[in-house]
Amino acid sequence: RLVLGIETSCDDTGAAVLDETGAILGESLHCQTLVHLRTGGIIPMVAQQLHREHIERVVQEALDRSGVLPSQLSAVATTVKPGLGLSLGIGLEFSQKFVRTHNKPFIPIHHMEAHALTVRMLQPVAFPFLVLLISGGHSLLAVARGVDDFLLLGHSLDEAPGDSLDKVARRLSLVKHPLCSTLSGGRAIELLAKDGDRARFPFRTPMGQMYDCCFSFAGLRNNITMTIKKQEAEEGIEQGTLLSCVNDIAAATQHSVAAHLAKRTHRAILFCKENGLLPSHSPTLVLSGGVASNQYIRKAISIITEATGLQLLCPPAKFCTDNGVMIAWNGVERLREGKGILTPDVDVSYEPKAPLGVNMMEEVKAAA
Ligand code: ATP
Ligand code: FE
Repeated sequence: RLVLGIETSCDDTGAAVLDETGAILGESLHCQTLVHLRTGGIIPMVAQQLHREHIERVVQEALDRSGVLPSQLSAVATTVKPGLGLSLGIGLEFSQKFVRTHNKPFIPIHHMEAHALTVRMLQPVAFPFLVLLISGGHSLLAVARGVDDFLLLGHSLDEAPGDSLDKVARRLSLVKHPLCSTLSGGRAIELLAKDGDRARFPFRTPMGQMYDCCFSFAGLRNNITMTIKKQEAEEGIEQGTLLSCVNDIAAATQHSVAAHLAKRTHRAILFCKENGLLPSHSPTLVLSGGVASNQYIRKAISIITEATGLQLLCPPAKFCTDNGVMIAWNGVERLREGKGILTPDVDVSYEPKAPLGVNMMEEVKAAA
């Protein structure tokens, strides 16, 4: 069985061909990060145009590298939710034309489910396991109970951690920093934080009083922005030209994001244990998403998993960010179980907003 995976949900055009064991036969990825860094954030119409310009080449490259012909494919799997509508539309339109031309089954993929299950391509991880997904668009804690069965324990009530890090980086104009000109906001902050003193700006960890597993980053980001403003005023300098304490601000920002993520994850682990949601033998937390490539954040989460006796699995950075491989793998898993496979004639729409799985609170209500 051979699956072609296609990803265009945000700012990466990705494609890959996988066999049923998860071996990557061929892949190709076109990242738009540099373009969006220059414009100070993703402009959806620009992202759409870049997907349009690159999708055909990216898919052809993945096929060529794999040596697989379209006629040999068992199915095509494509991200259809959640994400930027304009971006999702390009991948979906391309895929529907492709499956109709080659008369192949189509498997619509949920981008966050794909992030959550990528780890199973790399090593055997049995269901159920806990997963923390932290990226540019999401922050969520869920129990993965099956290929298409997720119990959502918590999500961000406002913005995602990657988004907050990107905004702080933009406020500091890190794209003009000699060490950071080609780095995403998150990576720039991680790099600068290495030489910073996190204790100089003690930001309060959000939601200390909230007894659930949700997240909030907007208030924290606002506090950080106010601090930057205050420093600029004290030094009498223009906005975005702060140099004296960027490292300390980066370190404090990274630390408070890590502390918030770790505290909410701790709550989720305790909840899972109390309610028998994880196996007693080698319970596992999977950490993924673009922000999970941050070593400081990984360390903070590992302190929690060690203290609670969980095994922590985190795919290598390349599989934490967006790519065609994780979409193809989700297609392989669905094909194996015969879940969500459509004939090529079925019209599919994309969904910019799509929650992951069933919300824990709704399940509790339904059971009562
Ligand atoms: P989503 O998966 O929610 O749709 P996305 O696909 O845009 O969002 P990813 O590609 O998974 O997100 O991750 C991108 C985000 O990860 C960006 O916000 C970026 O700043 C952040 N990021 C990348 N590297 C690091 C790092 N080393 N430390 C912290 N954040 C990072
Ligand atoms: Fe993603």
